[in-house]
Amino acid sequence: MPRLFIVGGSDAGISAALRTRELAPDWQVTMAVADRYPNFSICGIPFYLGGEIPNAQDLAHRKAADIEALGIEMLLDTRIDQVNAQGKRVHAAGVEHAFDKLVIGTGATSIRPPIAGLDLPGVFLLRWMDDMFAFERHLETRRPRRVTIVGAGYIGLEMAEAMTHRSVEVTVIELAPSAMTTIDPDLGTLVGQELERHGVRLFAGQAIAEIAAEGESLRLKGPNNFTHEADMVLVAAGAKPDTALAVAAGAQTGFKGAIKVNRRMETNLPDVYAAGDCVETFHRITQGVTYLPLGTTAHKQGRIAGENAIGRERLFEGSLGTQVVRVFDRVVARTGFHDRDARAAGFDPVSVDSTQWDHKVYYPGAKPMTIRVTADRNTGKLLGAQIVGSYGTEVSKRIDIFAAGIFHGMTIETFSDLDLSYTPPLSSPWDPVQMATQAWAKSERDAARSQ
Ligand SMILES: Cc1cc2nc3c(=O)[nH]c(=O)nc-3n(C[C@H](O)[C@H](O)[C@H](O)COP(=O)(O)OP(=O)(O)OC[C@H]3O[C@@H](n4cnc5c(N)ncnc54)[C@H](O)[C@@H]3O)c2cc1C
Repeated sequence: MPRLFIVGGSDAGISAALRTRELAPDWQVTMAVADRYPNFSICGIPFYLGGEIPNAQDLAHRKAADIEALGIEMLLDTRIDQVNAQGKRVHAAGVEHAFDKLVIGTGATSIRPPIAGLDLPGVFLLRWMDDMFAFERHLETRRPRRVTIVGAGYIGLEMAEAMTHRSVEVTVIELAPSAMTTIDPDLGTLVGQELERHGVRLFAGQAIAEIAAEGESLRLKGPNNFTHEADMVLVAAGAKPDTALAVAAGAQTGFKGAIKVNRRMETNLPDVYAAGDCVETFHRITQGVTYLPLGTTAHKQGRIAGENAIGRERLFEGSLGTQVVRVFDRVVARTGFHDRDARAAGFDPVSVDSTQWDHKVYYPGAKPMTIRVTADRNTGKLLGAQIVGSYGTEVSKRIDIFAAGIFHGMTIETFSDLDLSYTPPLSSPWDPVQMATQAWAKSERDAARSQ
């Protein structure tokens, strides 16, 4: 029986395992997981810590017993410490496992920014279930009154909201001039305003150099005599690929130090595939590589790695960095390029904003959303979109329409041909996304006329 061995049991690892079981029941599939939480939704951590999900076990997409019932052998609490690619063996604390094909899905680790004092009690990073339990224990035993979050990316923002549900005083400190750097700064400012509207204090454009213990509390210090006191600190400064195991085995790395893979998710090592947050990502528009550590991408890449490992032929079709985050009553989403990235990729981008109602205004509850469309001036090719709207206005599915259009190379003109759904409580005969692309076309026409 051919053997597939998978290192890692999160989004990429489980997707590879499930796809293999589905397509090739004759393969023996073994999945080693460094902790006791295979197939848990770490994306749900902020919602658990905020109390919206009462039971931590509910974060499991599948229970361990269900995974085993599918015929996937699991090695829990098993950290693979060596891969011998040529000899087709992996090792965990001296125990050897043979494989015919190997998928590495070791994921990412939290970035530890150059801040002194990251190891002080009361200072946390957040990535794994064990991080979550440690964070929760501190919240419950120490009952902090003031929690400060360093980093206003999507994890920092979700945690800011989560902590307000715990009735603690929340402060967010961000190095960039505005929150959520994956959207344009002026839209990020709207996110900052939403934080402030809910009592979260935001310091944007502020670096932190040091966290120091001061009696029972912690003091954060930064340039320009910045100083701020907290009882507990979360540092959410992003993720970096966890490649140590693969690199020690001879795997090459590329963009941002992530494992180099081709579109079949093959590494340079024979019969060794890699997927998810540990690898560089093929970008749909540039057809080059980038690093976009997201659960959505990890699932797809894992599935493709599994499929190719058992001898099928499937290419990863690329990411656009499509992303959505809810911050209190606002939802912010983005896909594709901003002006800046588009220009760097050789386009002549134009971005046009419009405000659109999420559904027919005569039907109660209509809410405006800001939609920024980026397209190429010369060809009208859609390149990116950003939306800021209210929770409940289907912002996430609307960004997905843009993502589908960009993915398939649509232009501003052809986007209006899409047959999208309509009923007055939910949309308009032209969906807001189409009205936004039409606003782009009008703006370009007006600009041409005025020349
Ligand atoms: C708080 C939080 C919220 C998030 N929210 C979202 C979201 O809303 N949307 C979204 O798209 N993405 C989100 N993400 C990102 C998403 O969770 C990751 O992109 C995704 O989990 C990556 O999956 P992965 O399988 O590549 O790696 P990981 O999830 O990092 O998993 C790696 C796996 O490898 C195992 N492992 C590592 N080393 C070894 C070893 N040597 N031996 C054995 N096992 C090993 C680990 O135990 C783990 O099982 C969030 C992440 C966090 C932390």
